[in-house]
Amino acid sequence: MPDQTIRALDGKLFIDGALREGAGARLPVVNPATGEVLGTIAAATPAEVETAVAAARRAFRPWAALTPRRRAEALHRLGELIAADADAMARVMTLEQGKPLNEARGEILKLAEACHFYAEEATRVFGEIVPNDQPGFQSLVVREPIGVVGAITPWNYPAELVGWKLCASLAAGCTIIIKPAELTPFTALVIAAKVAEAGIPAGVVNVLTGKGSQVGQALVDHPGVDKIAFTGSSAVGLHIQQSCPVVKRLSLELGGNCPLIVAESADLAAAVKGATRRSFRNMGQICIAINRIYVARPLYEDFLAALGASADRLTIANGIERPDADVGAMASAEPLEKTKAHLADALAKGARLVAGGKAPEGEEFARGFFFRPTVLGDCTHEMLVMSEETFGPLVGVAPYGTLDEAIERANDTPYGLASYVYARDLVEIQRLSAGLDYGNVAINNVDAGIMNAPYGGRKQSGIGYEHGREGLLEYFNFKHVRLHHGVGG
Ligand code: NAP
Ligand code: MG
Repeated sequence: MPDQTIRALDGKLFIDGALREGAGARLPVVNPATGEVLGTIAAATPAEVETAVAAARRAFRPWAALTPRRRAEALHRLGELIAADADAMARVMTLEQGKPLNEARGEILKLAEACHFYAEEATRVFGEIVPNDQPGFQSLVVREPIGVVGAITPWNYPAELVGWKLCASLAAGCTIIIKPAELTPFTALVIAAKVAEAGIPAGVVNVLTGKGSQVGQALVDHPGVDKIAFTGSSAVGLHIQQSCPVVKRLSLELGGNCPLIVAESADLAAAVKGATRRSFRNMGQICIAINRIYVARPLYEDFLAALGASADRLTIANGIERPDADVGAMASAEPLEKTKAHLADALAKGARLVAGGKAPEGEEFARGFFFRPTVLGDCTHEMLVMSEETFGPLVGVAPYGTLDEAIERANDTPYGLASYVYARDLVEIQRLSAGLDYGNVAINNVDAGIMNAPYGGRKQSGIGYEHGREGLLEYFNFKHVRLHHGVGG
């Protein structure tokens, strides 16, 4: 039976406070675990893009003029409505993205948490008073919302990656037009339905579905969109930066090729557990996934064997049927093909297959994008798995001699998103945390991002931050008000 929630959203856009039938061509959305068509989305037309931008522009001044407390109340309501409907929303996500239901539910609840976090932050955005060189003057630095935000998001975390941009925009007083990934549009549309239910004024939030190269690009091109908040691949991020025809604010959260260093002082069992989680969760389709691992030579063979065994123990299933499976289907054919290509490349160049390497067997896997979590040993930097983002359930492992060598190899990449360390020796920990050229360094844990600390990449992994105070400030302009009052002058 088709999912009721998806049926109600079929072919809809969310513009100016209402779900409306899209006028454009329909594009199918496929369940990656079964190959079935779940529904269709409407490709937003140029006229619909204009209508959405006009609605967001109209809504901007009144929304920005509300007290932060009022905007916070709206965000709290949104968070409550999302948490209350987490089961149905999670189902939509699993159907279109493939991750197991429990994990999808966890993501929806984190979205609700983001609503509450940004609601609270909204009321704590302060300015500054800056001393002047001349008496009788006062400089105030105030923060004003940027305006209309165009949010362009990928398919791996369909709720959170929309949510961070949505919540920060609303908290700051910006309005937003969201272009979700073509593969996972229904999660964004369900969020839009919650926005309407929360009584957030018309035009403050809009969702336009369709192809990135058309609808996403239209937001990049539009002079009425003041900022682009993009999460996705480095290639598309760079294209957005280069193709933007007017000067506008950009935040780009891009790809990674994240290393883990298992130092000689590491707790081996903890390192294996962490490596398993961060290499394979969401089938490795995470920008902060561990792509490559460097292990101190004395621990190397033990680590490799234990990681292989741990990967083999992960359960794979259709995430609707087995909500508690460790991993589900990959989101589409594209990341699966890239995973296979990186695997073939490494094997051809002499890597050792330690676990996985093929699709799971059985009728239930025949039509979906399934692959077994795969561990490769004896990898070198000539292999794609060590130098490019795989974005799939594949991890390459190599031994290292000295800590300097490990740091050098970990930094030998155009990316700089997240890095991971397992070590217990304080000197090793200090040298690694200072030496790793990454926006995030997680030590003896693999959860690099938390809601109240800044999260962002360096080098080709992006510009700007999400989360924390820094993430919220990305949605403000600073204004310097220099006042001559004459007192004392
Ligand atoms: P993608 O191909 O770059 O697409 C991301 C979004 O951009 C999609 O909504 C896409 O639309 C749209 N888009 C494509 N071409 C566009 C254009 N010319 N102008 C405007 N928008 C355009 O990325 P993906 O394959 O969905 O996601 C995987 C990538 O995201 C990985 O590289 C991963 O590392 C990265 N990522 C980064 C972070 C982070 O926080 N740094 C988090 C998650 C994922 P369509 O869907 O219609 O193509
Ligand atoms: Mg893509």
